Amino acid sequence: MKKKRALGQNFLTDPGIAEDIVQHAGIEEGGTVVEIGPGPGILTGSLLRDCGKLIALEIDPKLCHLLGKQFASNPKFDLHQQDALVYDYSRAGSRFQVVSNLPYYAAMPILKRLIQYQAAIVNMTLMLQREVVDRLVAVPGTRDYGSLSVFTQFNCEVERLMEVGKQHFNPPPKVDSSVIRLVPRSAPPVAVDDLKTFYHVVNAAFFHKRKMLKNNLKALCKYFDFTWQGIEDAGIDPARRGETLSLEEFATLSNLMESKTP
Ligand code: SAM
Repeated sequence: MKKKRALGQNFLTDPGIAEDIVQHAGIEEGGTVVEIGPGPGILTGSLLRDCGKLIALEIDPKLCHLLGKQFASNPKFDLHQQDALVYDYSRAGSRFQVVSNLPYYAAMPILKRLIQYQAAIVNMTLMLQREVVDRLVAVPGTRDYGSLSVFTQFNCEVERLMEVGKQHFNPPPKVDSSVIRLVPRSAPPVAVDDLKTFYHVVNAAFFHKRKMLKNNLKALCKYFDFTWQGIEDAGIDPARRGETLSLEEFATLSNLMESKTP
């Protein structure tokens, strides 16, 4: 079958790796699983074996046809020719797991959309580009730590599970992949008074990665009538770079700024 590069169609070829991913996902007996982009179905058979219901979202009509031929006789299989970027995940019910070897061109927007439904999601086991996973799990003070790390870790517990080399795909992508588990948090790990301010502060702090906080936050400080002294009062040296701040420090800073709302 001709693969559509524009749809991120790099198919996993090793059934052993597919089985490992499904084992890592820890499918709940009788539970609902959403699989995004089942493609030719290398994960799908094992997921169907373990779950109570599988909602499969595949955008490519040709692949949907193939998947239908292979799995339609299984009453657990619920296939939708759908764009995962626009699917209304509340249709999957109030409790479900997500498993996917994500199409890399749309991985981040799909993840952002899924996070909007986090109250219903038990966990997500996702294969992504290794570089993206490096950023999702990065800790303060490391090269890969940025706003993506902060926002993801604010919303989810993250755990890197396994590495998958590009040679295990057809066609091989340009980059290696990693599998990650994301468990949406029932409550934020740090108290944030105003989410918008928190998001503004984090984004601004990383705007120029090499700049000091006092420079990156200049415009926000002006807006909030907040001084460098204010940053110091938060116990943070304004000469530090955003990439060294923990989630707690971002929360403290944004709460102090918020308390100054004009
Ligand atoms: N699950 C298969 C595997 O592991 O080999 C295929 C994974 S392949 C990386 C990504 C799959 O997502 C392809 O089948 C592609 O057609 C599908 N896809 C791409 N964009 C999509 C979208 N927006 N919504 C749903 N499926 C999409």
